[in-house]
Amino acid sequence: MDQKVKQFEQLFTEIFACQKCKLHETANKKVVCRGNLDASLLLVGEAPGKEEDQTGVPFVGRAGQILGILLSYADFPTNSYFICNTICCRPPNNRMPTPEEKLACRPFLERFINLVDPVVIVPLGKTATTSVFDYYDIKLNSQSMTALRGVSKRTSTEKIVFPVYHPAALLYNSALFDIAKKDFLQLREIVDRVIR
Ligand code: URA
Repeated sequence: MDQKVKQFEQLFTEIFACQKCKLHETANKKVVCRGNLDASLLLVGEAPGKEEDQTGVPFVGRAGQILGILLSYADFPTNSYFICNTICCRPPNNRMPTPEEKLACRPFLERFINLVDPVVIVPLGKTATTSVFDYYDIKLNSQSMTALRGVSKRTSTEKIVFPVYHPAALLYNSALFDIAKKDFLQLREIVDRVIR
């Protein structure tokens, strides 16, 4: 079997067995990832919601539908990206993950990043942006998503990090949706420039 597939299987086994924080007690299913293991584009979400908790698949609920619209709009077919989350278990009532929960899941996020080894990483929203910036030692300087979104950073390992709004933030705000559409078109340009 392909070495990378084996490493993913090992990672899934560890995630399924993980009891490092209390979220495993209330989660229905651990939510790992979906997409192309060799993709050049990695999207990182916040945490599983209700539908994800029921199915074990990231971004299959309403936020996932919006994300799908944005990705199609910018001409990213499903085999062109990989998606995972900052944490793998749903926080009760969709509250934000605590710093302890993020820390407990952090080694899994790092392994997703290292295994996929993308060229461009897109954190969706503030939680994911904070985690990805932390990992690459990029200073956040207490900036809001309004300032962080649509601005690309280059890591010391020559990856590009390009934060965008979390798709759930766009559900009830069409002004943000227009900005997100522009950001995804810019993402298209970045990916075309560095990959094709
Ligand atoms: N929101 C996220 O951040 N991740 C999911 O998987 C679903 C909704």
